[in-house]
Amino acid sequence: MQMNTLENKVAIVTGASRGIGKAISEQLGQAGAKTVCVSRSHSDVEKVANNINESGATAIALACDISNGADFSVLAKKVIEQFGAIDILVNNAGITKDNLILRMSEDDWDMVINTNLKGAFNGTKAVTRHMMKQRSGRILNISSVVGLIGNAGQANYAASKAGLIGLTKATAKELASRGITVNCVAPGYIETDMTNQLSDKVKETLVAQIPLGRIGNAMDIAATVCFLASEEAGYITGQTFTVDGGMAM
Ligand code: NDP
Repeated sequence: MQMNTLENKVAIVTGASRGIGKAISEQLGQAGAKTVCVSRSHSDVEKVANNINESGATAIALACDISNGADFSVLAKKVIEQFGAIDILVNNAGITKDNLILRMSEDDWDMVINTNLKGAFNGTKAVTRHMMKQRSGRILNISSVVGLIGNAGQANYAASKAGLIGLTKATAKELASRGITVNCVAPGYIETDMTNQLSDKVKETLVAQIPLGRIGNAMDIAATVCFLASEEAGYITGQTFTVDGGMAM
């Protein structure tokens, strides 16, 4: 893909302090976008923004807990004040609180749904009025193969990730007439802090199920997000792209 295809676009990436969100922020920056890096920890996300700025691209860091809708709206207003536009929103931040259904607490259910699913709703709501006026926009939701095929011990996470696919389709239908596309990326097993918690035995079992024979890296997901954020992807909406080395096919 040609570089700099996102020149002067303004992008918000949640969960940008590490892992997949960090890679997405860096790759959007390389493609010319001005990137707003978001996570709860300001100091962590500031390091990412500083690195992007040192590489010659433009990034800022803003702290926000995406599960709080009012805070996300304030964040969107700040971005408009600073950059005058929001062209791309990547709802990437996500957490796990795994347990078998019999042992899963209501708090662990609520925390995962409120971050992974409601957080994406909050983000979408915060940017939609501006994108509608602008008559253009790209919203990307980061789901998971677990949202497609389920996983024992992850009822809360699977429900949140399947919910994102429904949210994507509903908002894609609502916003299409205003030139806004909404798509979903469903990563498979990607090497990040989230998966580093898994034991070597579990990792080996997972790799054995991946036809391409390797764990994915965050750049594999970032490349798909950058394509879907580009002008070239303008005729794609409401879709879920599985990027998993063939694991869930
Ligand atoms: P990490 O655990 O490495 O990073 C999660 C990011 O989300 C951090 O930046 C964290 O920062 C941020 N975050 C968490 N909660 C909130 C919140 N309430 N508000 C704002 N930011 C928050 O995750 P990954 O990079 O592995 O995963 C990124 C996304 O990809 C997630 O949605 C995950 O479900 C999905 N995914 C990952 C896969 C994998 O194999 N790694 C596979 C499939 C999907 P902070 O703690 O400072 O807030």
